[in-house]
Amino acid sequence: MNSDKIIIAIDGYSSSGKSTMARMLAKTICYRYIDSGAMYRAVTLYAMDHALINTDGTVDTAGLIASLDDINIDFKLENDSQYTILNGVVVEDRIRSLEVSGHVSPVAAIPEVRHSLVKMQREMGATKGIVMDGRDIGTVVFPDAEMKVFCDASPERRAERRYKELTAKGENVTFEEVLANVVNRDRIDESRDESPLRCAHDAIRLDNSSMSIDEQNEWLLELYQKTISRHNL
Ligand code: C5P
Repeated sequence: MNSDKIIIAIDGYSSSGKSTMARMLAKTICYRYIDSGAMYRAVTLYAMDHALINTDGTVDTAGLIASLDDINIDFKLENDSQYTILNGVVVEDRIRSLEVSGHVSPVAAIPEVRHSLVKMQREMGATKGIVMDGRDIGTVVFPDAEMKVFCDASPERRAERRYKELTAKGENVTFEEVLANVVNRDRIDESRDESPLRCAHDAIRLDNSSMSIDEQNEWLLELYQKTISRHNL
């Protein structure tokens, strides 16, 4: 066990800037960064590609559970960018589409899907030195994480960020569609029975509605420095 390293859990609402700041902190302090949302998105893409999403948009839960052992998710780091790999194929662009965003929350609400991904996530953090972002990292995956942050921003601000990201990639979406998706995902993520989106009791809350990316990064690095000095590391 690498006892001089810690686990950093960054949770929060959809498009609340978690990944951007988590990725930057990991790079600065030479930790591994894991985007747990990408793992739920990869399972969703697998379900879409294997006709496990019914025509009415519901999930073929039994079919997906039966396929979980066939779903392999990995990450590769290249030129400072992280790519999600599903069964040997890079799916980074495909998992970010609004179509995947539209199906991911019902998939992520299936307890068996969560158990399988949480197991993988815990293995990834077994030697610490990891920054992981998601919805349940500080509450369920790593309840003993030494540093926990919970991010929020207004739904409009979050949708604006996601809208810019998607249109920059050439996706043909409207702001209203993106806002509806963000609000709908929040609702499903907060109300599911299995590890719903919650702020851990010992997480530091950050509302970054009016912060720039640089300001967020600075805030997070400062919190990290305070945390390691509190742990005498
Ligand atoms: O973080 P991102 O927006 O990419 O996550 C996509 C979806 O995956 C979320 O809306 C949520 O339904 C699910 N998720 C989750 N638990 C996590 C990470 C993501 O349920 N730890």
